[in-house]
Amino acid sequence: MTDWPRLIRDIHDFPRPGVLFKDIMPMLADADAFATVIDALAAPWRDVPIDVVMAIESRGFLFGAPLARALGTGLVPLRKPGKLPGPVLEASYALEYGQDTLQVQAGAVAPGARVLLVDDVLATGGTLLAARELALQLQAEITGASVLMEIAALGARARWDGTPLRAALVV
Ligand code: 5GP
Repeated sequence: MTDWPRLIRDIHDFPRPGVLFKDIMPMLADADAFATVIDALAAPWRDVPIDVVMAIESRGFLFGAPLARALGTGLVPLRKPGKLPGPVLEASYALEYGQDTLQVQAGAVAPGARVLLVDDVLATGGTLLAARELALQLQAEITGASVLMEIAALGARARWDGTPLRAALVV
């Protein structure tokens, strides 16, 4: 077991002045840390029936794909507009300045599919709630959500839907 949280760096004033950004790249670059993190993300779900991991663009893909393999599930990427061919469903969410949108391919999962939502960082929760809305548009069943890191002071947990929300690290 590596002490992987020490490999997440605080970067001040990124991407804008006044923002404290948690930089996960050094952790990803460390083989032991990355393996430990994927094991930690998978552990709470080992005995939970899940059909599909839905991973949020773009850093959510870095965890969603190995997590889907670890759990033996399928993978459905939730993408920014203009990336997915064919009919799509979409959900918009507020950012600190402006808004953003996530899309999923229509019919990406069958109605009733048991879905685990995955992202890297949970900050205000707007992104994860948009992912949840897309899963609901697909008539999926939300099993829960997993994030690498939850920034607790921003209060996302209070806005979550009551399904299990797991964070490998809470800061
Ligand atoms: P939220 O919608 O919860 O406010 O923000 C979460 C989204 O923004 C995630 O998709 C995440 O990738 C990104 N994000 C917000 N703050 C940080 C941060 O400090 N570090 C990283 N790596 N991503 C962040």
